[in-house]
Amino acid sequence: MSLSPSIAIQVWGARGTFPMVGADALEFGGHTACVEVRAGGSVMIFDAGSGIIPLGKALLEEGVTEIDLFFSHVHYDHIIGLPYFLPAFWNKAKLRIWAGHMLDGSTPEQLVDGIFRPPYFPITKEYMRADVDYRKFSPGDVLEPSPGVRIVTGALNHPNGAVGYRIEREGVTFCYLTDFEHDGGAGDAEIRRLARDADLVLLDATYTPEEYPRYVKFGHSTWEHCGALCAEAGVRRWGMFHHMHMRGDSDQQAIEDAARKVYPNAFAARQGQRFELFGQPHRSGSDRAAS
Ligand SMILES: [Zn+2]
Ligand SMILES: [Zn+2]
Repeated sequence: MSLSPSIAIQVWGARGTFPMVGADALEFGGHTACVEVRAGGSVMIFDAGSGIIPLGKALLEEGVTEIDLFFSHVHYDHIIGLPYFLPAFWNKAKLRIWAGHMLDGSTPEQLVDGIFRPPYFPITKEYMRADVDYRKFSPGDVLEPSPGVRIVTGALNHPNGAVGYRIEREGVTFCYLTDFEHDGGAGDAEIRRLARDADLVLLDATYTPEEYPRYVKFGHSTWEHCGALCAEAGVRRWGMFHHMHMRGDSDQQAIEDAARKVYPNAFAARQGQRFELFGQPHRSGSDRAAS
């Protein structure tokens, strides 16, 4: 008997800032931020970095018609794939686009309008053939995009703002927390609130502790701070995400090795990596998480 996971996660892009190609990006991947989450019949996407381009092709081939897309924020590395997301141009698709971080009050529709805009892109958003529904919320809101799926949101410490997401279903929890910089204060408290007792968390570990002093206030964190926050929050397993642009595989591997010496429950997220979380209806033993 095959059991279906309560939450399934697939990483389609784990890099920050801009994509990377070449032989030095084969292990961890070169696409920017995009994570697919399936929970029951619900298909959710977190961020539209370049990783959403192959994801869109896969969803189209599978014939998926209902998609919820959540923006952490709209810096280029998190939206660059949206104009090339094939389901947006399929007239059978229903696309809900969620955003909640904009400090200037911009609506999700205004954000998408800014992406599909000549002369930066040849067509406007009116050319999308999908039925697009824009959903605005405020960080701190609890969303229920489909029955049984609960998403807790919170504001992250990042230039222009960003939103972190905690996705819960059947007693298991996955968190998507990028982009943020640890601040020793309210921002860290919000990370701990969102990540509390989570089964799996992906979070911004752009810099090494040695690099970080050069990038204070850039809005990104380190594996040391992520590890401390996850330990304080009681996280079972966590992954470094938003890998530094142009960081090659061997350097990224060294970072994973260093982090695991201190935090054995840590890993560096890889493009193509899948995780399955099994919750209440299936729970038989003690181990709820597999990957
Ligand atoms: Zn980013
Ligand atoms: Zn950013």
